[in-house]
Amino acid sequence: MKIGILAVQGAFAEHERCLEKLGITFMEIRKAEDLQNHSFDGLILPGGESTVMGKLLHDLELFEPMKAMIKNGLPVFGTCAGLLLLAKSIENAEGNQEDSHFACMDMVAKRNAYGRQLGSFSLIGEMEGVGKIPMVFIRAPYIAALGKGVTPLAEVEGKIVAAREGNLLVTAFHPELTENLAVHKYFLQMVENRRESLH
Ligand code: GLN
Repeated sequence: MKIGILAVQGAFAEHERCLEKLGITFMEIRKAEDLQNHSFDGLILPGGESTVMGKLLHDLELFEPMKAMIKNGLPVFGTCAGLLLLAKSIENAEGNQEDSHFACMDMVAKRNAYGRQLGSFSLIGEMEGVGKIPMVFIRAPYIAALGKGVTPLAEVEGKIVAAREGNLLVTAFHPELTENLAVHKYFLQMVENRRESLH
Protein backbone atom coordinates (compact mmCIF):
# COMPACT_ATOMS: atom_id res chain seq x y z
CA MET A 1 0.00 0.00 0.00
CA LYS A 2 1.20 3.49 -0.79
CA ILE A 3 -0.38 6.80 0.25
CA GLY A 4 -0.03 10.04 -1.71
CA ILE A 5 0.14 13.23 0.34
CA LEU A 6 -0.60 16.59 -1.24
CA ALA A 7 2.57 18.51 -0.38
CA VAL A 8 2.17 21.95 -1.94
CA GLN A 9 1.37 23.83 1.29
CA GLY A 10 0.42 23.26 4.90
CA ALA A 11 0.89 20.46 7.43
CA PHE A 12 1.88 17.59 5.10
CA ALA A 13 5.09 16.69 6.98
CA GLU A 14 3.06 15.91 10.10
CA HIS A 15 0.97 13.38 8.16
CA GLU A 16 4.19 11.88 6.81
CA ARG A 17 5.43 11.37 10.35
CA CYS A 18 2.23 9.53 11.26
CA LEU A 19 2.55 7.20 8.27
CA GLU A 20 6.21 6.60 9.08
CA LYS A 21 5.25 5.55 12.60
CA LEU A 22 2.72 3.14 11.11
CA GLY A 23 5.28 1.75 8.65
CA ILE A 24 3.26 2.91 5.62
CA THR A 25 4.98 3.97 2.39
CA PHE A 26 4.00 7.39 1.07
CA MET A 27 4.86 9.80 -1.73
CA GLU A 28 4.57 13.57 -1.89
CA ILE A 29 2.35 15.01 -4.60
CA ARG A 30 3.85 18.28 -5.80
CA LYS A 31 3.41 18.30 -9.58
CA ALA A 32 1.22 16.79 -12.27
CA GLU A 33 3.72 14.00 -13.08
CA ASP A 34 3.36 12.71 -9.53
CA LEU A 35 -0.21 11.72 -10.39
CA GLN A 36 0.74 9.64 -13.40
CA ASN A 37 0.62 5.84 -13.29
CA HIS A 38 -1.88 5.97 -10.39
CA SER A 39 0.86 4.62 -8.19
CA PHE A 40 -0.80 5.31 -4.84
CA ASP A 41 -3.86 3.78 -3.20
CA GLY A 42 -5.08 6.63 -1.02
CA LEU A 43 -4.63 10.39 -0.78
CA ILE A 44 -4.23 12.77 2.16
CA LEU A 45 -5.22 16.43 1.78
CA PRO A 46 -3.58 18.18 4.75
CA GLY A 47 -4.48 21.23 6.78
CA GLY A 48 -3.14 24.59 5.76
CA GLU A 49 -4.82 27.40 3.89
CA SER A 50 -7.50 26.10 1.56
CA THR A 51 -7.51 29.25 -0.61
CA VAL A 52 -3.76 28.97 -1.23
CA MET A 53 -3.95 25.23 -1.80
CA GLY A 54 -6.80 25.62 -4.27
CA LYS A 55 -4.82 28.19 -6.23
CA LEU A 56 -1.65 26.08 -6.22
CA LEU A 57 -3.60 23.02 -7.35
CA HIS A 58 -4.67 24.98 -10.44
CA ASP A 59 -1.29 26.61 -11.07
CA LEU A 60 0.49 23.27 -10.85
CA GLU A 61 -2.14 21.58 -13.05
CA LEU A 62 -2.95 19.12 -10.33
CA PHE A 63 -6.56 20.14 -9.92
CA GLU A 64 -8.33 18.34 -12.79
CA PRO A 65 -6.42 15.03 -12.68
CA MET A 66 -6.74 14.87 -8.90
CA LYS A 67 -10.45 15.62 -9.03
CA ALA A 68 -10.91 12.85 -11.60
CA MET A 69 -9.09 10.38 -9.34
CA ILE A 70 -11.25 11.36 -6.37
CA LYS A 71 -14.45 11.03 -8.41
CA ASN A 72 -13.23 7.61 -9.51
CA GLY A 73 -13.30 6.35 -5.94
CA LEU A 74 -9.79 7.00 -4.67
CA PRO A 75 -9.92 6.98 -0.84
CA VAL A 76 -9.17 10.48 0.45
CA PHE A 77 -8.58 11.80 3.98
CA GLY A 78 -8.97 15.57 4.25
CA THR A 79 -8.03 17.41 7.43
CA CYS A 80 -9.21 20.97 8.05
CA ALA A 81 -8.27 22.83 4.83
CA GLY A 82 -8.46 19.38 3.19
CA LEU A 83 -12.06 19.12 4.39
CA LEU A 84 -12.78 22.47 2.75
CA LEU A 85 -11.21 21.31 -0.53
CA LEU A 86 -13.59 18.34 -0.60
CA ALA A 87 -16.80 20.10 0.44
CA LYS A 88 -19.47 20.66 -2.19
CA SER A 89 -20.11 24.10 -0.82
CA ILE A 90 -18.24 26.51 1.47
CA GLU A 91 -19.72 29.20 3.72
CA ASN A 92 -17.34 32.09 4.32
CA ALA A 93 -15.37 31.26 1.18
CA GLU A 94 -12.69 33.74 0.24
CA GLY A 95 -12.62 35.38 -3.21
CA ASN A 96 -13.21 32.84 -5.95
CA GLN A 97 -12.65 29.89 -3.62
CA GLU A 98 -15.93 28.35 -4.72
CA ASP A 99 -14.28 27.62 -8.08
CA SER A 100 -11.09 26.21 -6.69
CA HIS A 101 -12.13 23.29 -4.54
CA PHE A 102 -12.99 19.75 -5.57
CA ALA A 103 -16.62 19.90 -4.43
CA CYS A 104 -16.81 16.09 -4.27
CA MET A 105 -18.40 15.57 -0.86
CA ASP A 106 -22.05 16.36 -0.30
CA MET A 107 -21.81 18.81 2.57
CA VAL A 108 -21.65 22.49 3.40
CA ALA A 109 -18.51 23.41 5.33
CA LYS A 110 -18.31 26.64 7.27
CA ARG A 111 -14.80 28.07 6.97
CA ASN A 112 -13.10 29.69 10.01
CA ALA A 113 -16.25 28.72 11.86
CA TYR A 114 -15.08 29.28 15.43
CA GLY A 115 -14.41 33.00 15.24
CA ARG A 116 -11.31 34.84 16.36
CA GLN A 117 -11.32 34.25 20.11
CA LEU A 118 -11.47 30.53 19.57
CA GLY A 119 -8.87 30.44 16.80
CA SER A 120 -7.41 27.26 18.18
CA PHE A 121 -8.37 24.86 20.93
CA SER A 122 -8.16 21.20 21.76
CA LEU A 123 -10.22 18.65 23.62
CA ILE A 124 -10.82 14.94 23.94
CA GLY A 125 -13.73 13.88 21.78
CA GLU A 126 -15.37 10.72 20.55
CA MET A 127 -15.24 9.67 16.91
CA GLU A 128 -17.41 6.82 15.65
CA GLY A 129 -15.38 3.80 14.60
CA VAL A 130 -12.28 5.34 16.20
CA GLY A 131 -13.03 5.97 19.88
CA LYS A 132 -11.92 8.75 22.21
CA ILE A 133 -9.15 10.85 20.71
CA PRO A 134 -7.47 14.23 21.20
CA MET A 135 -8.89 16.76 18.75
CA VAL A 136 -6.84 19.84 17.88
CA PHE A 137 -8.67 22.65 16.07
CA ILE A 138 -6.82 25.49 14.32
CA ARG A 139 -8.94 28.13 12.62
CA ALA A 140 -11.10 25.15 11.86
CA PRO A 141 -14.22 24.74 9.78
CA TYR A 142 -17.19 22.70 10.89
CA ILE A 143 -19.75 20.90 8.78
CA ALA A 144 -22.87 23.04 8.70
CA ALA A 145 -25.02 20.63 6.66
CA LEU A 146 -24.74 17.10 5.34
CA GLY A 147 -26.22 15.40 2.31
CA LYS A 148 -28.09 12.10 2.66
CA GLY A 149 -25.15 9.88 1.78
CA VAL A 150 -22.81 11.44 4.32
CA THR A 151 -22.38 9.92 7.78
CA PRO A 152 -21.40 12.21 10.65
CA LEU A 153 -18.63 10.60 12.73
CA ALA A 154 -17.98 13.19 15.43
CA GLU A 155 -19.71 16.16 17.00
CA VAL A 156 -18.32 18.83 19.28
CA GLU A 157 -20.81 21.13 20.97
CA GLY A 158 -23.51 20.16 18.52
CA LYS A 159 -21.37 20.82 15.43
CA ILE A 160 -20.25 18.04 13.11
CA VAL A 161 -16.46 17.88 12.97
CA ALA A 162 -15.83 14.56 11.21
CA ALA A 163 -17.74 12.73 8.49
CA ARG A 164 -17.52 10.08 5.84
CA GLU A 165 -19.10 9.62 2.43
CA GLY A 166 -18.01 6.40 0.74
CA ASN A 167 -14.26 6.67 0.21
CA LEU A 168 -14.05 10.23 1.51
CA LEU A 169 -13.13 10.89 5.15
CA VAL A 170 -12.84 14.37 6.64
CA THR A 171 -11.98 15.83 10.02
CA ALA A 172 -12.15 19.51 10.96
CA PHE A 173 -9.46 18.77 13.55
CA HIS A 174 -5.84 17.66 13.13
CA PRO A 175 -5.05 14.08 14.22
CA GLU A 176 -1.60 14.50 12.65
CA LEU A 177 -0.69 17.06 15.33
CA THR A 178 -1.20 14.53 18.12
CA GLU A 179 0.51 11.28 19.06
CA ASN A 180 -2.72 9.37 18.50
CA LEU A 181 -2.71 7.40 15.25
CA ALA A 182 -6.26 6.01 15.46
CA VAL A 183 -7.78 8.22 12.73
CA HIS A 184 -4.92 7.40 10.35
CA LYS A 185 -5.48 3.71 11.08
CA TYR A 186 -9.17 4.13 10.32
CA PHE A 187 -8.32 5.76 6.99
CA LEU A 188 -5.75 3.07 6.13
CA GLN A 189 -8.44 0.44 6.71
CA MET A 190 -10.66 2.27 4.18
CA VAL A 191 -7.74 2.18 1.73
CA GLU A 192 -7.15 -1.52 2.37
CA ASN A 193 -10.85 -2.32 1.83
CA ARG A 194 -10.83 -0.46 -1.46
CA ARG A 195 -7.67 -2.28 -2.57
CA GLU A 196 -9.26 -5.61 -1.81
CA SER A 197 -12.41 -4.67 -3.69
CA LEU A 198 -10.35 -3.83 -6.78
CA HIS A 199 -8.43 -7.13 -6.81
N1 GLN B 1 -8.70 28.32 8.07
C1 GLN B 1 -8.03 27.50 7.10
C2 GLN B 1 -8.69 27.60 5.73
O1 GLN B 1 -9.60 28.32 5.57
C3 GLN B 1 -7.97 26.06 7.55
C4 GLN B 1 -7.11 25.93 8.76
C5 GLN B 1 -6.37 24.65 8.87
O2 GLN B 1 -6.25 23.86 7.92
N2 GLN B 1 -5.78 24.45 10.01
O3 GLN B 1 -8.28 26.98 4.81
